[in-house]
Amino acid sequence: MNAREESRGLAILGSTGSIGTQALEVVDAHPDRLRVVAMTAHSNVALMEEQARRYKPAFVGMVSEKAAAELRERLAGTGIEVATGADCLLEAAAYPLADIVLNGIVGSAGLPPTLAALGAGKRLALANKESMVAGGDLVLEALRSGGELIPVDSEHGAVFHCLRGEDIGEVENIVLTASGGPFYGRNRGELEKVTIDDALAHPTWSMGRKITIDSATLMNKGLEVIEAHFLFGVPYERIKVVAHPQSVVHSLVEFRDGSLSAQLSVPDMRLPIALAISWPQRWGPPFKRTDLASLGDLSFGSIDTDTFRCLELAYKAGREGGLAPAVLNAANEVSVAAFLAGRIGFMDIERVIENTLDGFEPARANSLADVQRAEEWARAAARQAAGEAA
Ligand code: NAD
Ligand code: MG
Repeated sequence: MNAREESRGLAILGSTGSIGTQALEVVDAHPDRLRVVAMTAHSNVALMEEQARRYKPAFVGMVSEKAAAELRERLAGTGIEVATGADCLLEAAAYPLADIVLNGIVGSAGLPPTLAALGAGKRLALANKESMVAGGDLVLEALRSGGELIPVDSEHGAVFHCLRGEDIGEVENIVLTASGGPFYGRNRGELEKVTIDDALAHPTWSMGRKITIDSATLMNKGLEVIEAHFLFGVPYERIKVVAHPQSVVHSLVEFRDGSLSAQLSVPDMRLPIALAISWPQRWGPPFKRTDLASLGDLSFGSIDTDTFRCLELAYKAGREGGLAPAVLNAANEVSVAAFLAGRIGFMDIERVIENTLDGFEPARANSLADVQRAEEWARAAARQAAGEAA
């Protein structure tokens, strides 16, 4: 067999984002093992044109119709198919030439393609945590009938790694680490005054804008608690969060005998992306080595949940289950967008989410339509709460 026949077809959803572009760096490092067969993005025509010319996928999807029309013109004569609308995500997720689908979309727009990739029996390398939060029950149901899910989120990648060869029945706790974001150690009074730029200045990770704000409110950790619950089947009372400002220990598993396993590396998302793609192999050479001696001290502390209430709101929605996590996530998406647009203050984010959750009548998540209806309701409620907060 020649190298091309052995290489795996990769579909990258969200190729123009932080995760997507880092996934392409993983492809660059392994040109004989990976070939990009499909890519999607929302509306960044210039970058998508550049990526399409370089990686020559057979299929490109642009959710925005205007962007797709422009891209079609720019790619005329290349033979690359340009599709549009939300359905292009489903087409890319189930693309016949794709063995692996990397979902690097931001927001619960990633849920339908997550379900489509599993439905088509693909390996899903999942960065899009919102799909697990909004539709965890549906994702698990899809997984029971086919496909494979490997987490890309660094914490869950770490837990996945620590559970390698272990019996999940021996696990006492999953311990997720949190950098604490840019506002670690601040009090509520100080947080009332922070600006958009303050909130976007993450101390250890360079990421898309939405997850960077989620990291500043600690909602990111809340979403990750829910993600961990569904991925590893561990009840919420046994999923803990510990502050770890250096982001070197990516998470831990505590076993029944009290021993802890951890996964460490300098922060670099290309490592969990490559691991999700190559699993159960580990492809080298490493992007970065971790020089322990030069790292200095690694510290751990407790989370101040009186200040960062989003984490508690996520536990609450997670324990309630059913459609509550979808409502939490949709309310968060709306309030983060309102904050980034300068319409509400930083501390209004949690108020809008709490207000929305308080008005929600618990219900089960039986179908994607149920989730989407609950999200629509939550978005409207959150927009109203944000308007009142403004
Ligand atoms: P980003 O904003 O940098 O990129 C998002 C990508 O999704 C872009 O390609 C964009 O075109 C596309 N997109 C946006 N809205 C869309 C829509 N409605 N439909 C289809 N595509 C759309 O975001 P990111 O930082 O790369 O994060 C992507 C996902 O990965 C998020 O769920 C995030 O929580 C998760 N994640 C990111 C990091 C990181 O280091 N960036 C780490 C862990 C997890
Ligand atoms: Mg993470």
